[in-house]
Amino acid sequence: MEQKKIFLAESEMPRQWYNIAADLPTPMEPPLHPGTGQPVGPEDLAPIFPMPLIEQEVSQERFIDIPEEVLKRYLIWRPTPLYRAYNLEKHLDTPAKIYFKNEGVSPAGSHKPNTAMAQAFYNKISGTKKITTETGAGQWGSALSFCCSLFGMECKVYMVRISYDQKPYRRVMMETWGGTCTPSPSNETEAGRKILAENPDSPGSLGIAISEAVEAAVSEENTKYALGSVLNHVMLHQTINGLECQKQLAVVGDYPDVIIGCAGGGSNMAGNSFPFIRDKIHGKEIDIIAVEPASCPTMTRGPFAYDFGDTVQMTPLLPMYTLGHGFVPAPIHAGGLRYHGMAPLVSQLILDNLIRPEAIHQLETFEAGLIFARTEGFISAPEANHAVAMAIREAIKAKEEGKEKVILFNWSGHGLVDMAAYEAYMSGQLSDYDLPEEEMHRAVQEIAPLPRPKQYKPGTIS
Ligand SMILES: *Cc1c(COP(=O)(O)O)cnc(C)c1O
Repeated sequence: MEQKKIFLAESEMPRQWYNIAADLPTPMEPPLHPGTGQPVGPEDLAPIFPMPLIEQEVSQERFIDIPEEVLKRYLIWRPTPLYRAYNLEKHLDTPAKIYFKNEGVSPAGSHKPNTAMAQAFYNKISGTKKITTETGAGQWGSALSFCCSLFGMECKVYMVRISYDQKPYRRVMMETWGGTCTPSPSNETEAGRKILAENPDSPGSLGIAISEAVEAAVSEENTKYALGSVLNHVMLHQTINGLECQKQLAVVGDYPDVIIGCAGGGSNMAGNSFPFIRDKIHGKEIDIIAVEPASCPTMTRGPFAYDFGDTVQMTPLLPMYTLGHGFVPAPIHAGGLRYHGMAPLVSQLILDNLIRPEAIHQLETFEAGLIFARTEGFISAPEANHAVAMAIREAIKAKEEGKEKVILFNWSGHGLVDMAAYEAYMSGQLSDYDLPEEEMHRAVQEIAPLPRPKQYKPGTIS
């Protein structure tokens, strides 16, 4: 019989995370203090993050031990299965082998608990009583609520208004795990009140919600803030995914020619691909594709610049691809991909030609989601459909080229709490949205592109 799922035993679960900072061909530019313009030090970050996470943020260690207390809780859903998409391959009549890593089996339904569990643990041992955060589609807020509950901590979530209205059950999930959820912009913070004064009907954005959550964290005792993507330590925690995939593909004797992930802040695609990018840096030929929505084209159309992580300019300036901190993306259903920036690590790897960014329109992603559901059965999160759509494109390309390529994509989460989006698609209410050039210009005006000297050419290190 064909092997459909590749499982790892619990004893085979990786015991360390992989830190790609140790292998970067080009060193990263440092984050800068928003006031002084100088590189930020640990003391600047101490009011919002616990020290162990700050240390990981700047670590150059290649492998970092996963604490026992985190490993134990990872076992609730890890190791996750790697699937071979035989039915999809047959449907597409492609010679390509398509594998997908199912990160939708976690209690929260996505990859996000991989970092939420680690962040909850490091906060717990550092004396944190309450964590504040923002959430887009609600995936991160529910993941953090789930993980905080396992460590007996409070969790307060500012949820982007548009998603709060579109996905009411995400709020109920957060509440089920004991978290509290407020639509953002809210009247609870200076930042929220400022935005509401300018635009009472603001649909919100991750940038605005981050501002609110950071403000709430610094103004309350024993309260810290947690970010679900973008930062180095988040990418680090997600690498357990790619490390598992390497072991799983070895079981069936395959190695990917193409790796695909959708990218909002970059964490799920980073987690799946970084261990393979290490191989690529050392000479392996792999096409690594990060897929974003065409309506929020951070990587494909934005400049690489120093920009704020949030809208009201409280966070450090990060070196990244960005559409500008004031950018409010169209209200597409892939809420988790509506962020103005991209993880500095992912951005640097794009600059170094180790990751190839692509943008796809909304309708193609939902069409791919239906094909996937009707062949492989699983209903994808709208975000994950971006990866599915790109895998389909690549499988068709492999057919045209007559190549038996191995395609691996990261299935970042299920869409069972996103049925309103599917309903909108199937009843013809969704449309594509091309970001007009003028609108993009307006958004990036407030940021200065970085003149980029240092760039690496693949294959020059071995
Ligand atoms: C949050 C989310 C994303 C986007 O975030 P990244 O940090 O880019 O991974 C993608 N897919 C799902 C299912 C999500 O919940």
